[in-house]
Amino acid sequence: MPMPIRLSTLFLRTLREDPADAEVDSHKLLVRAGYIRRSAPGIFSWLPLGLMVKNRIEQIVREEMAAAGSQEVHFPALLPKEPYEATGRWEEYGDNIFRLKDRKEADYLLAPTHEEVFSLLVKDLYTSYKDLPLSIYQIQIKYRDEARPRAGLLRGREFVMKDAYSFDIDDAGLERSYQAQRDAYERIFKRLGLDYVIVKADAGAMGGSKSEEFLCPAEIGEDTFVRSSSGFAANVEAVRFEPSPEVDASDVPAAEVHDSPKTPTIQTLVDFSNKEHPRDGGWSAADTLKNVVLALVSPEGKRSLVIVGVPGDREVDQKRAEAWFSPNDVEQASEEDFANHKGLVKGYIGPTKGSKQFLGEKAESKIPYFVDPRVAKGSAWITGANENEKHVWNLTFGRDFDADGVADIAEVRAGDPAPDGSGPLELARGIEIGHVFQLGRKYAEALDLKVLDENGKLVTVTMGSYGVGVTRLVAVVAEQSHDDKGLIWPESIAPAQLHIIAAGKEESVFETAEQLASEAEELGLTVILDDRKASPGVKFADAELLGMPWVIVCGRGLEQGEVEMWQRATGERFAVKLESALAELTARRK
Ligand code: ATP
Ligand code: MG
Repeated sequence: MPMPIRLSTLFLRTLREDPADAEVDSHKLLVRAGYIRRSAPGIFSWLPLGLMVKNRIEQIVREEMAAAGSQEVHFPALLPKEPYEATGRWEEYGDNIFRLKDRKEADYLLAPTHEEVFSLLVKDLYTSYKDLPLSIYQIQIKYRDEARPRAGLLRGREFVMKDAYSFDIDDAGLERSYQAQRDAYERIFKRLGLDYVIVKADAGAMGGSKSEEFLCPAEIGEDTFVRSSSGFAANVEAVRFEPSPEVDASDVPAAEVHDSPKTPTIQTLVDFSNKEHPRDGGWSAADTLKNVVLALVSPEGKRSLVIVGVPGDREVDQKRAEAWFSPNDVEQASEEDFANHKGLVKGYIGPTKGSKQFLGEKAESKIPYFVDPRVAKGSAWITGANENEKHVWNLTFGRDFDADGVADIAEVRAGDPAPDGSGPLELARGIEIGHVFQLGRKYAEALDLKVLDENGKLVTVTMGSYGVGVTRLVAVVAEQSHDDKGLIWPESIAPAQLHIIAAGKEESVFETAEQLASEAEELGLTVILDDRKASPGVKFADAELLGMPWVIVCGRGLEQGEVEMWQRATGERFAVKLESALAELTARRK
């Protein structure tokens, strides 16, 4: 016999005030409603109601993983460093991993993700193509020493992830395994009632071939994505523009170096050009080529400089730069970098590959020079001449200067054409809730995961990895579904479907509420019963804050044989006869 969750005994303390450290609504409300409690930055304890929501999400994930043919396993969170050294991630993760030593001074880590140890277990047990395909997953705590553990459960340093891994003998198999996980993700997020988009993701450091992210559109999201009206969707990190086609430069005048005193910024340069070197139609920032000096820091900590020429009306996008130059970190060049490279003349840096006549003798030609894909062969620019207070006009790409390659790291702007020609892009922000990834053979190769194929030949296994942020989902649902009074859970994961309030002092009110609760449970509903000795006002406010989808108030109306029913999501409230209340609820839930 199920029992209602009784607020008189539940380990719960609701708060009227927002926690001081909370920036986003889901964080404020989950703490105020007594679902979670902060233990340390990015580390939370789970109270009974929060645990119920988390468990329900995990249950949905388990059901859909089973439907996708994936089997549940469980790995340790505490692992030795060796497997992560073999794949290079002990270093690549940098400060993001929690590292520790055992009593024998051996290195360990709290795993940020588990590709390595899943692969090793499969290697340990399986030897033949007949064993494959295989899909296994766990729901487990991950540790990442995030730089900015903000927004509560959205970015924890300890958080729960469902991570699945697939093992196949060939690319077609990997594609099927990937699709099975992708479909399962769609079902999971639909069951949670979430609004989400699937975007192309950057395959980046993991070196895989194909990757997509599931993002929930939200202003507070840390990911920016673009989409066109005809179906293109990508994380900005993963948008790749084709190099612009060559343009005819036969009419472009010869390049000329001029003095350009006090023009270290794009705006001062444009103003100067329009005054001192006017042309029909004038000059704008888009006519200038800004040469940005970046420092790449390798996973081993090696620092090297690159210069990237971008149209002067665009900024470099830090995340796109990190994705492009991954696995390196990308930093602005420091004063020290400039001091170490005397040829870099701040404010007047030009391309470093090309005609010395225009680009000076001292140009730092050893620093790799890349251009934005908008810099077409034959296009002409105003740009730095690598000499103090000098610029060069009509410097033409392919004619007067060259590059070591393309670097597609400039910001993407609303209205930019989609790379696949599907029209102008719009930008939005989102929260990543899931990630599906065709890893290919990189990890299997690093860890020597091979099986015998049909011909008795050893072949490397191809892998996929698939993550869902379980605890992040608790917050994302709260973020998408709340109002100024509190949380609004969808029935699929609410701690209880029905919240019954005994609003009054009379014994009969409490008896009626008890009776109604047990009848509701007989119908299969989960119930919270507010049987506390507290004022109706306190109980009403808590019902709204806690966020069960349906509320029935047993109060004054009982004198006329009526109760009040609320639907939390719509805000609708209406009186209904006590004896038909549950029938009415059943009808409305359909
Ligand atoms: P992000 O870009 O948000 O840092 P990620 O790309 O590093 O995430 P993955 O390694 O792809 O994350 O992890 C799979 C899923 O785990 C993510 O889609 C996300 O839902 C969740 N997740 C990742 N980092 C965190 C975190 N710090 N707190 C809570 N959930 C997280
Ligand atoms: Mg990801």
